Amino acid sequence: MLKAHELVKLWEVAAGKQLWQKAILMLAAADPGEPMENLALLSIGHRNARLFRLRDGLFGTRMDANSCCPSCDEKVEFQLDTQVICNPELPSWDGGEATYYDDSSQVVFKPANSYALRDIAPVVEIEGPEVAGRELLFQCVLQYKKNGIMQPVEAIPEEFLDKVAEKIKDIDTHSEISCRLSCPECEHSWAESFDIANYLWHEIEIKAQIILTEVQVLARAFGWWEGDILSLSDIRRKYYLEGLDE
Ligand SMILES: [Zn+2]
Repeated sequence: MLKAHELVKLWEVAAGKQLWQKAILMLAAADPGEPMENLALLSIGHRNARLFRLRDGLFGTRMDANSCCPSCDEKVEFQLDTQVICNPELPSWDGGEATYYDDSSQVVFKPANSYALRDIAPVVEIEGPEVAGRELLFQCVLQYKKNGIMQPVEAIPEEFLDKVAEKIKDIDTHSEISCRLSCPECEHSWAESFDIANYLWHEIEIKAQIILTEVQVLARAFGWWEGDILSLSDIRRKYYLEGLDE
């Protein structure tokens, strides 16, 4: 698992990058032997599953999160268990092609990967998540046939495209994670989507800043070099810090 200096390095390198890049950099830091290209080609569900396992190792399986009730704006706090919302036993899509069809239409598709997220990032910013979601779906479609005749992807009827989207969600387990929340104030209930890349990045950001503050305190107190302090284990760093409080 990541040591203090690796975690700080990750934060330094990934800060300011787009979220899809942060996700790849987090996985690369945890598994430096794996080429970034391979990580970027993982299906989003597979990528998310690996982020969850990284999170288990770094911070444990319990997650505290919060949201706002869409009906009354009340702040709602909730806990998640990473083993429940991303079951390690469920297989991830290997990224191969799959087919969905009815009596007259046939679509060949592949799961979205991080490069697809990169490509739609400008669409998210300019046209919003709904249009970008549609664009992402089109990127997954490799071929569309109607009555055996090849058609442009844009010609897929909305209703059929929705079914393809459902199919992708089913196969690429963990590509979209949501949890059912209910408001303690007004009892409104809704599905809250949960983005592990975003959540884990914030935790890493906070942890890196805490470590650097500790480095600052120890450097001032003992005159040690930053690199030497960062090479200390968490338990030894904490021991020296506690000694300063006495
Ligand atoms: Zn409410």
